Amino acid sequence: MVTVHDRVDLHTHSRHSDGVLSPADLVALAVARGVTLLALTDHDTVAGCAEARAACDAAGIRFIAGIELSTQWRGQAIHVIGLGIRAGAPALAAHIAQIAQRRHERILAIGDRLAARGRIAGHDVVAHALAAGGVPTRMHLARSLVALGHASDTQQAFDRWLGRGRPGHVPVEWPALDEALPRLAGACRAAVLAHPHRYRLSGGALRALAAEFVAGGGAALEVSMAGMSPGDQERIAALARRHGLAGSAGSDFHDPATRWNPPGRFAKLPGGIAPVAERLDDA
Ligand code: AMP
Ligand code: MN
Ligand code: MN
Ligand code: MN
Repeated sequence: MVTVHDRVDLHTHSRHSDGVLSPADLVALAVARGVTLLALTDHDTVAGCAEARAACDAAGIRFIAGIELSTQWRGQAIHVIGLGIRAGAPALAAHIAQIAQRRHERILAIGDRLAARGRIAGHDVVAHALAAGGVPTRMHLARSLVALGHASDTQQAFDRWLGRGRPGHVPVEWPALDEALPRLAGACRAAVLAHPHRYRLSGGALRALAAEFVAGGGAALEVSMAGMSPGDQERIAALARRHGLAGSAGSDFHDPATRWNPPGRFAKLPGGIAPVAERLDDA
């Protein structure tokens, strides 16, 4: 059971996607920061969950197997978190395999463009990025561009090479939200719309997204995150109340070098919002 004394973090990454820590090291850091209920939500994979669960069991804290799924809605990438993933769900496994294939093809295409348009050794960048293992993301390429001397930090790697309008930009089409969400919702305890305040959507479009999210089986909005402004939090809380959605809270932790979102860092859930953690008992 979740109590008011629990310190929950329902959004974190490990090196199985674009985080830098192993699941065991992530758990150790979360425990050191007082987290008592932790979800691992790597991009498009649950590969780190067995290790994270074993580490949480050993440390005596609760673990929730999760994922942050890449989807597409009205031309933009929308992330949906699944919490309490049921082991072996075949529809979700096939869906994840499809995304892995798409990611791999995209990374190779970015390497080609970096070579052809950027006139750098794009294939070396790709080889370096893939050697990291796990789900290959553009963050891996950004780190490799830094490691190979093409950028001074990952933000510059996006600004110079990978971002929109840059030589290595390759647009990607993720599986549509209305196809992905029912698969995810059927394979987990609670589907959560990740960081709704970050999408470039008008108020009306965000309400349409929330309505489709409810229709597709979604349960909660990510209402409290590290670094979220009070205005954004109230806007998203109002959206959750309007659509009868619960609230989730998480750090979106990736890297201990980023000081502002360590595991366990987020604002309190505002009033009138049911904590999604209450639906995760026995997950
Ligand atoms: P993707 O492979 O497209 O899913 O991107 C992986 C990660 O790269 C995202 O989760 C972000 O953390 C990061 N990212 C994407 N675009 C940018 C950008 N323009 N600037 C900085 N980081 C970015
Ligand atoms: Mn990420
Ligand atoms: Mn995300
Ligand atoms: Mn994330």
